[in-house]
Amino acid sequence: MSQRFDVLVIGSGAAGGACARILKAEGLDVAIAEGGPFGGTCALRGCEPKKVLAETAHAVARVREMAQANGVRGDLSIHWPTLAARKQFYVDRVPPWSEDNYQSLGITLLRGRARFTGSNTMLVGDTPVEAARIVLATGSKPQPLSFPGAKLLAVSDDFLNLKELPPRIAFIGGGYISMEFAHIAAIAGATVTMAVRGDRCLKRFEPDLVSQLCAATASLGVEVLYHSPPHSLEKTESGFVLRVGALGEHAVEADMVFHGAGRVPDLDGLDPAAAGIAVEDGKLTLDSFLKTTNPAVYAAGDAAWRYQLTPTAVMEGRAVAANILHGDHVSPDYAYVPSATFTHPTLAGVGLTEEQAKSAGLAYEVKAKTGLSWSELTRLGIRHSGYKVILEPGGGKLLGLFYMGEDAEEVVNLAALCMRQGLTVSQIMDMVWAYPSFGYTLRYMLA
Ligand code: FAD
Repeated sequence: MSQRFDVLVIGSGAAGGACARILKAEGLDVAIAEGGPFGGTCALRGCEPKKVLAETAHAVARVREMAQANGVRGDLSIHWPTLAARKQFYVDRVPPWSEDNYQSLGITLLRGRARFTGSNTMLVGDTPVEAARIVLATGSKPQPLSFPGAKLLAVSDDFLNLKELPPRIAFIGGGYISMEFAHIAAIAGATVTMAVRGDRCLKRFEPDLVSQLCAATASLGVEVLYHSPPHSLEKTESGFVLRVGALGEHAVEADMVFHGAGRVPDLDGLDPAAAGIAVEDGKLTLDSFLKTTNPAVYAAGDAAWRYQLTPTAVMEGRAVAANILHGDHVSPDYAYVPSATFTHPTLAGVGLTEEQAKSAGLAYEVKAKTGLSWSELTRLGIRHSGYKVILEPGGGKLLGLFYMGEDAEEVVNLAALCMRQGLTVSQIMDMVWAYPSFGYTLRYMLA
């Protein structure tokens, strides 16, 4: 006998949670199926545990950089086992809180991995479930890699769960997860190498600022190898040998080698074909309302494969809830999605890069500078910094803003608000800002 619901949400992370809460608040009978611990990637093995490590590393590096000029004395170091325990303290409280929260709202919790058995039926573990609508919020997983020895790679979950910091660490890939982890590990004392397939890291950000970040990365002692796709990975008596380059011409010795080469939607075991759901190249076929080729089934978050960020997962979960409640009418708006790389210093951005503005045929002007001498930065000892602003000509609206420096994520959040509200340069300059503050630096960028 099947359990029946108005809506069955698969996955208890940011997307599934946002969607289920709205639908329940509107009076629908909602269940969430979860194959792992309740809480999702961001809280258990993504943004939040990472921030415990990154903020500690950032604070230590910041003091080291300020020390000489500002009279701070004594060496600082990170005791990794203590930091790991602190991170785990935050992680361990997530699943019970998450379960209590859903149950207090009246959402039914189903434990087990879900798989389709028909167009609107699934098995969750061994339990048959039927629902008028199903939402796939199953998140993502590291992209499968096929070079010899790829099975020996550790993944981001393993990095976040390290009880001791290995002395020599290598990362494959130049995305934000590799870059953030490389900074954390280097500041904590490891010898770190990053092997990047092409000639640049962090493709979503302005190249000039990525160059600044690479300079900051080098000054932390991280070696970045470009044009270095993985060739093979071997276990040795003393650790691993990672060979990179087309012929494996460069060898990197490391105690652990991590996969930071991208993530793909996690559709493992779902059997979408059993529900008539089309999948192409591992990605669900979705319309602009996030509906699959089965009209009863939607997707949101990393499973929907648009942006792979927590705030966009929430936005998509909310959009799907609105479409289920009132018919398809909401398409997520990705125009002003700010994002940050929590390195040391942070690099953040929102809106169009110059390349994107050019390709879109827009009229624009650019204000840009690197190696900033603002006292806000120099008094913290920040040597690698910069900004690039893409503007409508003649003091019009902001089209894009990228900034590397202290509190970059908050500066970019402010820029996103200005962009969303359609403020012009003079309207932004007319505002009174607290001073000194990093928000105020927006005025320097736009002057
Ligand atoms: P998830 O939170 O992954 O939830 C999916 C859930 O579905 C999981 O709990 C899984 O167990 C469950 N599931 C999967 N398949 C099934 C099944 N068949 N049956 C039942 N349950 C199933 N984003 C940011 O915005 N900022 C950051 O700083 C940031 N840092 C990150 C750092 C790391 C190391 C990683 C890995 C990610 C980071 N992200 C960050 C990305 C962010 O975590 C994700 O975009 C976000 O968590 C996606 O949420 P989601 O709800 O789509 O999926």
